[in-house]
Amino acid sequence: MNRDLLIKELRKQSDVIWDTIVIGGGATGLGIALDAASRGYKTLLLEQSDFAKATSSRSTKLVHGGVRYMAQGDLFLVMEALHERGLMLKNAPHLTFNQEFVIPVFSVWDALMYTVGLKFYDLLAGRLSMGKSYFISKKETLTRLPLLKSEGLKGGVVYHDGQFDDSRMALALAKTCAERGGLVLNYFKVTGLLKNEKEKICGVSAKELLSGDVFNLRANLVINATGVFADEISRMDNPQARHTIKPSQGVHIVLERSFLEGDSAIMIPKTSDGRVLFAIPWYNEVVIGTTDTPLEKISLEPVALEKEIQFILNTAELYMVKPPKREDILCVYAGLRPLAADPDNPASTKEVSRRHKITLSPSGLLSIVGGKWTTYRRMAEETIDKAISAGFLGKRKCITSDLNLTTLKSINSGNRLHIYGDGSAEIDEMISQNPALGIPLDSRLPYTKAEIIWICRNEMPLKVEDVLARRTRALLLNAKVSADMAAEVAYIMAMELGFDLIWQNEQIESYHELVNNYIREK
Ligand SMILES: Cc1cc2nc3c(=O)[nH]c(=O)nc-3n(C[C@H](O)[C@H](O)[C@H](O)COP(=O)(O)OP(=O)(O)OC[C@H]3O[C@@H](n4cnc5c(N)ncnc54)[C@H](O)[C@@H]3O)c2cc1C
Repeated sequence: MNRDLLIKELRKQSDVIWDTIVIGGGATGLGIALDAASRGYKTLLLEQSDFAKATSSRSTKLVHGGVRYMAQGDLFLVMEALHERGLMLKNAPHLTFNQEFVIPVFSVWDALMYTVGLKFYDLLAGRLSMGKSYFISKKETLTRLPLLKSEGLKGGVVYHDGQFDDSRMALALAKTCAERGGLVLNYFKVTGLLKNEKEKICGVSAKELLSGDVFNLRANLVINATGVFADEISRMDNPQARHTIKPSQGVHIVLERSFLEGDSAIMIPKTSDGRVLFAIPWYNEVVIGTTDTPLEKISLEPVALEKEIQFILNTAELYMVKPPKREDILCVYAGLRPLAADPDNPASTKEVSRRHKITLSPSGLLSIVGGKWTTYRRMAEETIDKAISAGFLGKRKCITSDLNLTTLKSINSGNRLHIYGDGSAEIDEMISQNPALGIPLDSRLPYTKAEIIWICRNEMPLKVEDVLARRTRALLLNAKVSADMAAEVAYIMAMELGFDLIWQNEQIESYHELVNNYIREK
């Protein structure tokens, strides 16, 4: 994945007709591009910012069936997601983990309901179950969650789900897609749709954001996989298209691991506002979230509201012996999920089914919205199958259920570098050639110079933020420390990618500005 070479390749192929152009480089678009490329279709993916810049790097980091949807009776959705959970753990073992969860219960009725419910959850997973669910006593609950408040506690229900690194998974999809012949480009914004004399879509115009060059690219099929931005693309197709999406914001805070202790995660099935709240160990810290706040505006850089942060802190205080305070927060991040807007009553919103929705416009724009990270593969398969059945693509079979995202043979969770998949051996080799490259950039986070150099050479970062927020997870794990790393990262990037001192200074300044959104001091 060398961006300059890929753009050269694109210029060379300027009169080529792509089988498909996918707009959007989040979980959905990258999953679709990988599905298409691996079936042998000539595939181009364009992302306006960085891969996974939007919702796909801001999730709760769960690979899950969705216990909540089971409670809502959406069994088909849960079963499908549990199946996909199993495939994701099988195909990306370097980025996914089996995580034990404990639901603390405070009444006999809850104990019974969650024990039976989660047994059923296991059953729905079938052979892809990740471990049995069972009830544990109050004493055992407190052994697993030593910092849980014990007043009124009757016990706990243990169950298993998957956990993952979302933005690294997005990069793994991009890389595997490129290996299968797909062309994936970040910082390439689609600005219009091309139509033929029959008013059918036959390509896109897109701007390469570094040079400002505009490309007119032709394709048999254009797929709109732009998440909460989907209406913007639909209006390029039909300026009269009505608003179908309203964003709803989910916020997480990251705290030091000492606020959870033990290896288990906590799941609170019903907070005071009726939401599920998770506290999950993630790398060496703990992620707590999430909220659900309808917003008016869609943004690539959503910002947590003070009331959302307070809600999480207040809820945590109800359950934790050592309640976190505002100043304990290492990072706060916000992500947007699409809610269905009612075109006849723009003030009202209702939750879109968590199942995805695929639509085909009269001029041939295939759009997909909704779904979950966990189900990205299935969503991609259905989208390409729909394109085949609508006559845009010749018939070819989907192969992604058995497509590994790494060739690493034995994954060792103690080897942190395994998150780079096949690249881990190259990073190891760089460090053994020059041990100074193995020293962390900042002693408070593990990331080394060797990793940043390898990332520059292999993962198409264009901004300091791309390295600190999504290729490493420094921003989420400790926003202030990541700001302290920005100058050195800018320097390494400049050396590797040929940027000058002015670029370095601009990058450091804009990264420091960005970090303010993730600290949100009162
Ligand atoms: C708070 C929160 C927590 C979640 N937690 C989980 C979880 O734990 N597990 C789980 O399975 N799911 C989770 N989800 C759901 C999951 O994160 C989303 O379903 C998924 O990330 C959506 O991916 P997407 O590609 O559709 O959208 P996005 O990630 O938003 O990607 C859309 C992309 O399109 C690009 N784009 C827009 N316009 C253009 C243009 N004109 N040209 C080029 N590119 C363009 C954007 O820049 C963006 O990168 C969570 C969602 C939220 C909001």
